[in-house]
Amino acid sequence: MIKKRVLVTGGAGFVGSHLCERLLNENCEVYCLDNFFTGQKQNIVHLLNNPYFELIRHDVTAPYFIEADEIYNLACPASPIHYQYNPIKTMKTSVMGSINMLGLAKRVKAKILQASTSEVYGNPLEHPQTESYWGNVNPIGERSCYDEGKRAAESLFVDYHKENNVNVKIVRIFNTYGPRMHPNDGRVVSNFIVQALRNEDITIYGDGQQTRSFQYIDDLIEGMMSMMNTRNEFIGPVNIGNPHEFTILELAEKVIELTGSNSKIIYKSLPSDDPLMRKPNISLAKKELDWEPKIQLETGLIKTIDYFKSVI
Ligand code: NAD
Ligand code: UDP
Repeated sequence: MIKKRVLVTGGAGFVGSHLCERLLNENCEVYCLDNFFTGQKQNIVHLLNNPYFELIRHDVTAPYFIEADEIYNLACPASPIHYQYNPIKTMKTSVMGSINMLGLAKRVKAKILQASTSEVYGNPLEHPQTESYWGNVNPIGERSCYDEGKRAAESLFVDYHKENNVNVKIVRIFNTYGPRMHPNDGRVVSNFIVQALRNEDITIYGDGQQTRSFQYIDDLIEGMMSMMNTRNEFIGPVNIGNPHEFTILELAEKVIELTGSNSKIIYKSLPSDDPLMRKPNISLAKKELDWEPKIQLETGLIKTIDYFKSVI
């Protein structure tokens, strides 16, 4: 049987490593491309013996050529501390990375999916967020290298589709958590779990009343792959997230309860431009992808806590 050849940029990261694994299980040949900025060999080491898995050390800001049938473009640091470490590089990764991967897709006639983000909605004035909402993004703030980079990438994807007939797909991913998040990643779920397991103070930024909607990694992978398989005319963008909304304080309390930790909650200042609320409207994903998340927060947190117990 001829295998589908799939390129995953950012394949050694948190989401990318789960996607590579799942694609191999679906009988694909997988090319995992990564510059290891935030990705780790550890995430994909168990795949290295698979003859249908290839690891490529490369930076997407430089062109790359390979024959592939599908491309998942995930390369980009996702945690605020990582994407703010070198904001110019973050913008380059989103914009030049997209141009390079779209150019490749055009040349080899591959279908290409962009991992966009709920951050394109910024600090939203519409709640929950539907795909038709244009967002409320600060173009010169601490988050803009990421938010505006991802917005520019969406624009490029749509234009390559219109101008060059490239078969594109755009998913807007909402906060996702699970095993293989980096312990020092800085995102809230990994921070709280690591702090709780070490019985250190749990650091809430602001008053903890800001909300997020947390999606377990397996649901995201299912959603992304369903999107890749939709009819050609449907390019998105489509929200992929779990609509169950929690305050950050509720999340902290849940993590303490599930870990049985002695940690106490402390409050730190809220970073600038930190969105007050976030929750996806997933009607479009239900209709077009026949997809909705299945894993509730408590179930996903237990699996993630087990993972962090094994690595820290
Ligand atoms: P991650 O930081 O774990 O993974 C990103 C991967 O991209 C890493 O392996 C990193 O080394 C690689 N990378 C970064 N810059 C690169 C470059 N210039 N060239 C090649 N590789 C590069 O983050 P993640 O959570 O796995 O996110 C994956 C994708 O999904 C990102 O594009 C992110 O914006 C998007 N996303 C994630 C979430 C989430 O909650 N996890 C939410 C919205 C969007
Ligand atoms: N947050 C927090 N403590 C932490 C890390 C994050 O209170 O140790 C807050 C952060 O200010 C934000 C929310 O949790 O309001 C989600 O943060 P994360 O960085 O995970 O994702 P994003 O802000 O990009 O949605």
